[in-house]
Amino acid sequence: MSEDCIFCGIVAGDIPGRTVYEDEDVLAFLDANPLAPGHTLVIPKAHHERLNDMDDGLAGSVLGTLNALVPVVEDAVDAPATTVAFNNGPEAGQEVPHVHGHIVPRFEGDGGGP
Ligand code: 5GP
Ligand code: ZN
Repeated sequence: MSEDCIFCGIVAGDIPGRTVYEDEDVLAFLDANPLAPGHTLVIPKAHHERLNDMDDGLAGSVLGTLNALVPVVEDAVDAPATTVAFNNGPEAGQEVPHVHGHIVPRFEGDGGGP
């Protein structure tokens, strides 16, 4: 837990989040400023800034959850495809310094993802 971290605040329940999935190690919730309906974020509950800060077990849990949720999100918003992405570091566009994978539903001709 990092005191100033928005996503740690969501894990702790101090900041509201719309939970999509939760287990012991991983939380998935809807993005507050979605790029498309159903835009979902998947995070480790423990505070890690970058992908490589996680051990392989936790990274596997995060990636496994992303993989499992892709069809769930696609079905929920009737999307034919998704962009699945991590911005890893501020220069890559990572604004929240707590690892998060994006699941962005994509539609024909929508012009771009994260
Ligand atoms: P990044 O640019 O770091 O890869 O993505 C951060 C994402 O977190 C953005 O898509 C942004 O909309 C989302 N976000 C930022 N603050 C909050 C928040 O307080 N709650 C939720 N649910 N999403 C947030
Ligand atoms: Zn955090």
